Amino acid sequence: MESRLAEIMREKGIRRTPQRLAVWREFSRRPGLTIREAARRLEAAGIGQATVYRSVKALEGAGLLLGFPAPGGELRYAAVLGHAHLLVCEKCGRVTQFGECRLGDYETEVQRKTGYRISGHTLVIYGVCPHCQEGGDSASKR
Ligand SMILES: [Zn+2]
Ligand SMILES: [Zn+2]
Repeated sequence: MESRLAEIMREKGIRRTPQRLAVWREFSRRPGLTIREAARRLEAAGIGQATVYRSVKALEGAGLLLGFPAPGGELRYAAVLGHAHLLVCEKCGRVTQFGECRLGDYETEVQRKTGYRISGHTLVIYGVCPHCQEGGDSASKR
């Protein structure tokens, strides 16, 4: 995963600073953090808030972080490697990457209908995870 990360950073021409790698890893370990939450955690590693904000913007621009609106209204981020499909639980905020992609034909169709030259997509699917679906009644029955 980290070698793909290095490859994308090289392709996009963004510098591989230790701070940027630390920021990316933080969102990789804990997908769904807000910038503020990540900054609070990275403070311990000696990375200042302004650096975290700048790194997030640089990584997002290179397709290495994906920001998405989540319940509560704040933008949350997940580490991605370019092309990504995320499943977001609306109750607990859990973020899962879903690997399988069936959007190739859809992209072709969009391209044909709009005349755009399509370069890619990211997809965020919202729902309630199995754990949260169970949570409610199994806990109360006990
Ligand atoms: Zn959940
Ligand atoms: Zn896809």
